[in-house]
Amino acid sequence: MEAFAHRLIRWQRAHGRHDLPWQGGDAYRVWLSEIMLQQTQVATVIPYFRRFISSFPDVATLASASVDDVLAHWSGLGYYARGRNLHKAAQLIMQQHAGQFPQSMQLIETLPGVGRSTAAAVAALAFHQQHAILDGNVKRVLARWKGIAGWPGEKQVEEKLWQLAESLLPEQAGGKQHIAIYTQALMDLGATVCTRGKPSCDRCPVNADCIAKAEQRTAQLPTPRPKKIIPEKHATFLLLLHGSDILLQKRPEQGIWGGLWCPPQLDDGQGVVEDYLALHGWQVAERSELPEFSHAFTHFKLHLTPVVLRVQEKPGRMEQAESMWLDVGEALLAGIPTPVRKMLQQLGGEILI
Ligand code: SF4
Repeated sequence: MEAFAHRLIRWQRAHGRHDLPWQGGDAYRVWLSEIMLQQTQVATVIPYFRRFISSFPDVATLASASVDDVLAHWSGLGYYARGRNLHKAAQLIMQQHAGQFPQSMQLIETLPGVGRSTAAAVAALAFHQQHAILDGNVKRVLARWKGIAGWPGEKQVEEKLWQLAESLLPEQAGGKQHIAIYTQALMDLGATVCTRGKPSCDRCPVNADCIAKAEQRTAQLPTPRPKKIIPEKHATFLLLLHGSDILLQKRPEQGIWGGLWCPPQLDDGQGVVEDYLALHGWQVAERSELPEFSHAFTHFKLHLTPVVLRVQEKPGRMEQAESMWLDVGEALLAGIPTPVRKMLQQLGGEILI
């Protein structure tokens, strides 16, 4: 039977995606897209990518931008460490590589936020080097095609998949020059044919020797992550308002929504709202609550109750440097996490009319 790589390359030419805005082999654009595509779908990424590229068209512009500006462009994509790492990596490329995107896989992998698969994707797509990728989509394709059971997040299973990915490279099948097409083919197959829910095996170029298809195990493979109980936490968001201005604080770099702007947060066990107000000397003229909302993080679920507090006066001087009053409309343009954006939109509609 024709080699796996050859079948994929032929399929990509006829049925793969050829009009994604980061295609064309420019390392900066490929890298940016790869970081954005971690944990995020192509359709969601495209408008973010276009906006990002029009503001930061190259490494130098990105490196000289403020991290706040970068995070404002990232706002809504989630996993904000990716945005901060992107910015750090651009500065490192300027300082240590004279502004030239590093070409070797080993050097690419030293950039903040770049793991083995991302580095391999950039090396293959931009520099036509023989390296195997293994992102979530590729893990699914290979686990099904070769019938590899076990959760791919487990070290041993992942190692098996890496070995398989390496062994399937076009280099092994005499098609070295087609590594970029092959790499794109794997991504396209995972995203458009061998999809999570219901793979379209009839349209798949490697269906003739796919074990999951032959054994009707596509619903079981890849093995899902073992279930664990996600802890739940509760907190209060203090929406301090003065006219149409709201108080926002920059969150510490470490932790959830690191470096983004949010209303002050009172975690369970940190006292009641009245104590917080008394501590800061706030005089509240009016108080109300918005409906509770929840946000699922990787390791826990957070339930937030937004309390709207209209203060009589703004303090002349903020006790924390990383605090600011912003008009709610302007706050929507700042680097804020999606749940806060939704809450501010609701606030704008309900409270400020
Ligand atoms: S035949 Fe079906 S399950 Fe197997 S790789 Fe192709 S799409 Fe995936």
